[in-house]
Amino acid sequence: MNISTLDIEKVVKKVIEGIDVKEKENCVDCVDGIFENMNDAVEAAFIAQKEYMKCTMADRDRFIKAIREEFYNDELIELISRMSVEETGMGEVEYKIIKNKLVIEKTPGIEDLKSEAISGDDGLTLVELSPFGVIGAIAPTTNPTETLLCNSIGMLAAGNSVVFSPHPRAKKVSTLTIQTINRALRKAGAPENLVVSVAEPSIENTNIMIKHDKVKLLVATGGPGIVKLVLSSGKKAIGAGAGNPPAVVDETADIEKAAKDIIDGCSFDNNLPCIAEKEVIAVDSIADYLIFNMNKNGAYQITDKDLLDKLVKLVLNDKLKIKTEFVGKSAKYILSKLGIEVDSSIKVIIMETDKEHPFVQEELMMPILPIVRVKDVDEAIDLAVEVEHGNRHTAIMHSKNVDKLTKMARLIQTTIFVKNGPSYAGIGVGGEGHTTFTIAGPTGEGLTSAKTFTRKRRCVLVEGFNVR
Ligand code: NAD
Repeated sequence: MNISTLDIEKVVKKVIEGIDVKEKENCVDCVDGIFENMNDAVEAAFIAQKEYMKCTMADRDRFIKAIREEFYNDELIELISRMSVEETGMGEVEYKIIKNKLVIEKTPGIEDLKSEAISGDDGLTLVELSPFGVIGAIAPTTNPTETLLCNSIGMLAAGNSVVFSPHPRAKKVSTLTIQTINRALRKAGAPENLVVSVAEPSIENTNIMIKHDKVKLLVATGGPGIVKLVLSSGKKAIGAGAGNPPAVVDETADIEKAAKDIIDGCSFDNNLPCIAEKEVIAVDSIADYLIFNMNKNGAYQITDKDLLDKLVKLVLNDKLKIKTEFVGKSAKYILSKLGIEVDSSIKVIIMETDKEHPFVQEELMMPILPIVRVKDVDEAIDLAVEVEHGNRHTAIMHSKNVDKLTKMARLIQTTIFVKNGPSYAGIGVGGEGHTTFTIAGPTGEGLTSAKTFTRKRRCVLVEGFNVR
């Protein structure tokens, strides 16, 4: 079903109609998890988590299923996807739909929590994965609803409650998503306020949340600034930061497939995902054929130096940093600002550059893809390591040479390394494994899931239950 812009307000009303406005001792103006004041939000989440500790694992499972079922609703998924694009001005509805559905289907629940047992002459020791309590989670503009849904499922499965700090530019869609999660939880009989936020997300509110004594774990999904902030908080923190994923193509690769995979990965949601291909490093002997095939698969190639300079001035500021207004915009839109009209079959703007070009060095998050030509695969791997900037995030390689694939995996040390596929295979789209939109490279948890949001506790029974 198509929801036009004009219909959105009507559908929002429909989705949130019937909201209970509750006056509680310790929460004012609490409407389905949204509070006026950050301190009240944290206090409510604290009380909720205490109640949650009384629930069984079967209850947790039921609550997670309730969230999934609420969002297994094409109308709702389309609504939040469309609102997300309209509010943030980033990305494409069709891709947001794929990403939101992916999260609902492939984010692990309680099955992710595996206890360990050690038994011997002295009895039985259990290592249990227990909740932290209240988690403070910060979400980006680039995947606002995906991050809220994915974090809610994982953090609740682990027995926590969560206070979200969404990006202020994604306030409306984040509020609706959090309220809808709360309504689903209420219908399933969960304690109130397991997932909360504030009506006006802001840097100030995020700082209150970060410093609040009752917030025991911080999870930041965003750029280097917010990751640094949570890591300097003095609390346990998980940082899911920026990337600049290189895609290496050598002479042994299936060049036609590599070209298509790169265009598909790079253009996914207009290059917003932090895992998406941000620059190509191609071995000289196949570079022309690769570019020819990229052009066949939806690339628009810029060869004119003046035009390239104009593009640089258009999307980067004087300090050669990205202009937010072009983040997540389509190739068609960006080209139109240069006076070039193309149809929507054009998905990526490509150009050959040297390795120092800002398009190579900066994380652009828009479908502009520089290609750097190198003499051989060893040079390609070295350059990929250099331009990944030690983010330890994501890298892609197209090659049939197992030795070189192994070499790159060893040297680049990224959290995700996709071989012979588009980058999104690394988060479970056409690749094995669970999904997440919080990929913790800097702090090492990797592709986060319920078990990431737990503390290990040892429970020792002396002499008993050694039955061998
Ligand atoms: P951003 O860093 O501007 O914002 C992320 C969040 O942090 C927002 O909620 C923002 O309000 C908050 N924030 C930022 N600076 C803050 C400060 N000084 N004080 C308090 N709060 C602050 O990032 P963005 O543009 O929304 O998202 C894109 C970035 O996030 C890219 O760098 C991308 O690679 C990264 N990202 C990483 C992952 C991952 O899993 N590793 C996932 C998505 C996005």
